[in-house]
Amino acid sequence: MTAVDALREWVEGLPLVDHHVHGPFRASASRARFENALNEGSTDPLPDFVSGFDSQLGFAVRRWCAPLLDLEPHVAPDAYWARRAELGEPEVDRRFLTAAGVSDWVVDTGFGAEDVLSLEELRSLTGAAVHEVVRLEAIAARLLTDGADGYVERFRREIADAVQRGAVAAKSVLAYRTGFDVDWRRPSDADVQRAAEAWTTGAGDGPLADPRLIVFGIFTAVDAGLPVQLHVGFGDRDLDLHRVNPTLLLPLLRTPEVARVPVLLLHCYPYEREAGYLAQAFGNVYLDVGLALNYAGARAPALVARSYEMAPFAKVLYSSDAWGPAELHYLGARLWRNAVARVLGEWVDDGDWSLDDACRVLELAAQTNPRRLYRLDSAVPDLPARPTHH
Ligand SMILES: [Zn+2]
Repeated sequence: MTAVDALREWVEGLPLVDHHVHGPFRASASRARFENALNEGSTDPLPDFVSGFDSQLGFAVRRWCAPLLDLEPHVAPDAYWARRAELGEPEVDRRFLTAAGVSDWVVDTGFGAEDVLSLEELRSLTGAAVHEVVRLEAIAARLLTDGADGYVERFRREIADAVQRGAVAAKSVLAYRTGFDVDWRRPSDADVQRAAEAWTTGAGDGPLADPRLIVFGIFTAVDAGLPVQLHVGFGDRDLDLHRVNPTLLLPLLRTPEVARVPVLLLHCYPYEREAGYLAQAFGNVYLDVGLALNYAGARAPALVARSYEMAPFAKVLYSSDAWGPAELHYLGARLWRNAVARVLGEWVDDGDWSLDDACRVLELAAQTNPRRLYRLDSAVPDLPARPTHH
């Protein structure tokens, strides 16, 4: 047996903390919406000659997800869609989410919450532990709909309440709103208050995009001791990809108070190498290659391999970043398991790593790292016994 085979078998039983994820669809979407969900970059309907299925992600859905719907691998898109529609969303959600082998979902509730299952529903559907991540821009936007009065204090109270009810992290999507090339100095309360007033009286519709308000949000989370998740790199075209290179975060990462909380660089593609370097350079910086993992499909092993170049192993995490189609919650885990078995297994087969070390490094990503940095209070699941030989 090769080490690749031994790892493949062992990692199947390794429960995962999915440290950045959203809920699955509550109700069935149209086929057009489903196919659009297989394309992250475009915010428009797909051109008529482009099928969401004709992509690495689409092929991965047909290969790996079809069997969970009682279909043959590589089934044609029409047959896949017909079976999916026949089962309906609650059953599709149940099948994919329970098959993901996830012990803990760490859920960003700040996007499209009305279309997807709530934390409580996710918990009862999967029996897994569920942890809340609050989205800073969503809190800011909600508070500002009531006007700017006392904004600074109201925002701080929201974050204190989130900590009180057990939220484990705060997430910022400033990548989408301003990019990372902003003034990272902590704004004064008076500046923030002025920005809030300007926002409500001026450009107050459209997404919150004032860097002072967003940077204030991040510092408020830091002051509360919350780990901060930052969307980095790949996303839909609302973001300027060249302005979300994580090395633009250096002024933030060099700020002494920020060094005291974990900073999670999410997704990172195509900047996973820069993110790996930052994880090596800063004791509090972590990364994952979630989201891109699903979109890379058969190329996921190369992406995972790059995430294991510069980053210390205590800094690499797993996430699916699934939102909407439950295929994505399952596929993230499926492709991660496939990729790590292949990549780390080959290092073992080549004689560079021991099999025991490979298992230990995967336990770090799957459980140890996220449990430590988010201080998860859920029970640690049983881990499979490491293979002693192959
Ligand atoms: Zn996300």
